[in-house]
Amino acid sequence: MTEKRRILTGDRPTGKLHLGHFVGSLQYRLAFQEEYECFFIIADLHMLTTKPSKEDIAQIGENAREIVLDHLAIGIDPTKTSFYLQSAVHEIYEMHLILSGMVTVERLQQLPTIKDMAAAAELEQMPYNLLGYPVLQAADILMPRAHLVPVGKDNESHIEISRQIARRFNNAYSEVFPLPDAYIVGGTLVGTDGQAKMSKSLGNAILLSDDSASVRKRVMSMYTDPNRIRADIPGTVEGNPVFNYHDTFNPNKEEVEDLKSRYRQGAVGDVEVKTKLYNALENFLEPIRERRAYYAEQTGYTDQLIYEGTQRAQAEARQTLMEMKKAMGLTGVWNRIRRSNERRQKRLAKA
Ligand code: ATP
Ligand code: MG
Repeated sequence: MTEKRRILTGDRPTGKLHLGHFVGSLQYRLAFQEEYECFFIIADLHMLTTKPSKEDIAQIGENAREIVLDHLAIGIDPTKTSFYLQSAVHEIYEMHLILSGMVTVERLQQLPTIKDMAAAAELEQMPYNLLGYPVLQAADILMPRAHLVPVGKDNESHIEISRQIARRFNNAYSEVFPLPDAYIVGGTLVGTDGQAKMSKSLGNAILLSDDSASVRKRVMSMYTDPNRIRADIPGTVEGNPVFNYHDTFNPNKEEVEDLKSRYRQGAVGDVEVKTKLYNALENFLEPIRERRAYYAEQTGYTDQLIYEGTQRAQAEARQTLMEMKKAMGLTGVWNRIRRSNERRQKRLAKA
């Protein structure tokens, strides 16, 4: 039997996941799990780039559990995915240091993603670890020797850096790593307030774990066509978040087309459009909530998954790091010194 190809995915444990995450990444993870062995990183070391405070760190455990629950809730199969805590896999730190010699500062400084992250976190100066984010990401990807990395378009340049680092390592020492491919996923879900992106920190998100009352409240106060102050005024469907959500989450295409056409004519009220959206979202979220409740009821289950997944990752990481050091000749240096010292100690003991 040939081994399955591997995928590396994951999230920073900064909070619960929302519909935007589903659109932008979770739905692909679901599709990929059938064909690939999935390594799922809970990237808490990456969190330290922009959220390094003690208070932020204190949230990691709870957020990690919630993220795992979110994944189980949408149907991720824990027998096909290893969830692991990045900071508990010490070999990743070592790999990061070795790999950091295979990329230039200039190359990292040119990345718009890193500047954007610094700006979003309102950092006035560039921390060393934020500049090195793509190098740590390369360590994450190369640790399980992943073949495929599903990422948004904006992250493509980081995977290119991982490939470059892998290629340089293989050329300089020996063929340890497969070159990872980026698989571009995406689509961005707008916020309920009409802002370009649903984001938990913007307060415009519907969480996968929200209850019916919260979903109703969010939907009923959603941003729509601002020019349409009465139901009999013709409205614009294009770029209207309510219809954007209908397109994404309402499988009843006939209903959506009917609503759109009446909206354009000024023949439907916002309340009807939103109520139907609410119903569609409830149909989408109900099975997710049920699975979430089922897993949440089993006390300690998510911790067990993270524990076992991390052990699995640690074993994998030890193997990869050992092969790296062997290829470089680093293990040899230490082993010779260790053996030489053992011989000396024996001689001294005899004398
Ligand atoms: P924060 O407000 O803390 O930035 P967030 O809700 O924007 O949090 P992130 O942790 O920044 O979530 O998102 C992680 C990844 O999830 C993104 O890189 C992207 O792939 C995906 N994602 C997040 N929000 C959306 C969205 N609205 N539409 C599509 N994909 C999204
Ligand atoms: Mg964000």
